[in-house]
Amino acid sequence: MAALITTVATVLAAGCGSSGGSASAPESASASPSASATSTPSVSDAGASALPSFPAATASPSLPAPSTATAEQRFIAAVFSDAQDEWQSIFQKAGKQYHPARLVLFSSAVRTGCGDETAEVGPFYCPADQTVYLDVTFFKEMEAKYGVKGYFSQAYVVAHELGHHIQNILGVSTQVAQLSQQYPAQANALSIRTELQADCYAGVWAHSAYTRNLLEPGDLDEALTAAATVGDDFLQKQATGSVQPEKWTHGTSAQRQKWLTTGYDKGVPSACDTFAAASP
Ligand SMILES: [Zn+2]
Repeated sequence: MAALITTVATVLAAGCGSSGGSASAPESASASPSASATSTPSVSDAGASALPSFPAATASPSLPAPSTATAEQRFIAAVFSDAQDEWQSIFQKAGKQYHPARLVLFSSAVRTGCGDETAEVGPFYCPADQTVYLDVTFFKEMEAKYGVKGYFSQAYVVAHELGHHIQNILGVSTQVAQLSQQYPAQANALSIRTELQADCYAGVWAHSAYTRNLLEPGDLDEALTAAATVGDDFLQKQATGSVQPEKWTHGTSAQRQKWLTTGYDKGVPSACDTFAAASP
């Protein structure tokens, strides 16, 4: 029942490197989901699997830790720019053109290429203007409401949103939108796989940050806590007191942690084909 969408196959050779590991290092040998029959219409990752791994580690200064609101915004911008540089380098090595995304920090409301939005909506990516929109109060709310703290939890959110930009460039978003129209009953399942892939892409960036000595002990844990907090089951339970899986669009806390970890362990976008996983 899978409607297989084939996109233009990339002719690029697949890279498959990964960094060696110490105790806290990303592992290259973690389990990955098997690609077998699935009841969800399949979506090609349109060449992500052919993108090479990140370059070897080089010494680089640590990301600045914010101490004021303005510094926090600078940190977010620095993470965004770093993640974007890494993706640009991945695309370049694969002989693909990278189109930079923009970052807009806002408070209360913002006018976007996808319409007017309020801070209620949380961080989001608008494909129409290829921009990541971040409400500057979101992280404070995450901390106040759910106790999620730490700069790396913010970095994870930023990297996740940029992950949607990568999906947009690779044509994944378009395929998902088309399939969701074609198979409305699968729309939520497709949305979940899309979100989990963005989590995995965030993990790929975290892996690269690790190889460049930008991560401190506990950083990944912060991201994992954030990932668990934005899981559909957790948020739904908080909001309604019950859990209704059929309404999920982002994946459970466990799924989000699993794919973030997969990206972090493997460090290559090819590890992030959530659409091929039998159960993501
Ligand atoms: Zn998302």
